[in-house]
Amino acid sequence: MCRHLGWLGASVTASSLVLDPPSGLLVQSYAPRRQKHGTVNADGWGVGFFDDGPRRWRSEKPLWGDSSFASVAPTLRSGCIVAAVRSATIGMPIEPSASAPFSDGSWLLSHNGVVDRAVLPAAHTAESTVDSAVLAAHIFDRGMDALAATIAEVGARDPGARLNILAGNGSRLLATTWGDTLFALQRPDGVVLASEPYDDDPTWRDIPDRHLIEVSAAGLSLTALEGQ
Ligand code: GLN
Repeated sequence: MCRHLGWLGASVTASSLVLDPPSGLLVQSYAPRRQKHGTVNADGWGVGFFDDGPRRWRSEKPLWGDSSFASVAPTLRSGCIVAAVRSATIGMPIEPSASAPFSDGSWLLSHNGVVDRAVLPAAHTAESTVDSAVLAAHIFDRGMDALAATIAEVGARDPGARLNILAGNGSRLLATTWGDTLFALQRPDGVVLASEPYDDDPTWRDIPDRHLIEVSAAGLSLTALEGQ
């Protein structure tokens, strides 16, 4: 399914994370290397970052065709970035508001996976009818500090769900692994969390399934999720 990426660290350009790496999100949009569900991620993309608050640029078109984003991305700089390319689940709408990251005004959040919307409470604040937006609204309603408990509960209600979340608020990244891959790269200038490595650096760390990952100024911590 989708591929996402988060950055917390020094101020870097969106292009240095998304467009330039040999297997970055741009290449993952047509040639992902570790994708287990789906083949390409051509149903939209989104790049979110923080300056005085969360900012987003989202589209329902393939990332490779967006020359405007390619032109501006080298000037978009931030110390916290959440980006994704989308492979829409069958039956879901294809529209800019269905592309991650979703936001509550403080956090930017991406969901890689699938969930039965019937197990989620109807959320009036969901940005789209796509399952990921309804899940994002539920997570925001519960509060980001309850992310681990929320994912374990939703996973228990829908045993077929895949619930890889990646979220940032400018000073923290929170992520879960629940049914799909996630890797971490600790660079001298910050930390990358990504569905798959964007290059062949041997220090990319494979995060085990059913874990919560938190990245902050204090470093990276890993906690097993309930139900693992
Ligand atoms: N189910 C979500 C969607 O349709 C996410 C899909 C994915 O992870 N590929 O957008």
